Amino acid sequence: MLITDTGVPERFIEVDEWGSETMSRLDDGWCAALDRRTMSCSIYLNRPLICREFDMGGPDCQEERLRP
Ligand code: SF4
Repeated sequence: MLITDTGVPERFIEVDEWGSETMSRLDDGWCAALDRRTMSCSIYLNRPLICREFDMGGPDCQEERLRP
């Protein structure tokens, strides 16, 4: 969810049924801004706040990695 304006390009933004802006996802659930070739963020300098604060390798990260 986008809660602050960090300059995410419009083409990567969707509005959900409650009117909140979110990062768009591809059909397989991956973030549309992910460069699948390098597995890195294609908008790194403009990534959403939540991406900046996500603790890489932390409990939430480990939980996500275990998801099928
Ligand atoms: S850091 Fe990851 S989830 Fe966040 S915008 Fe970039 S590719 Fe998407």
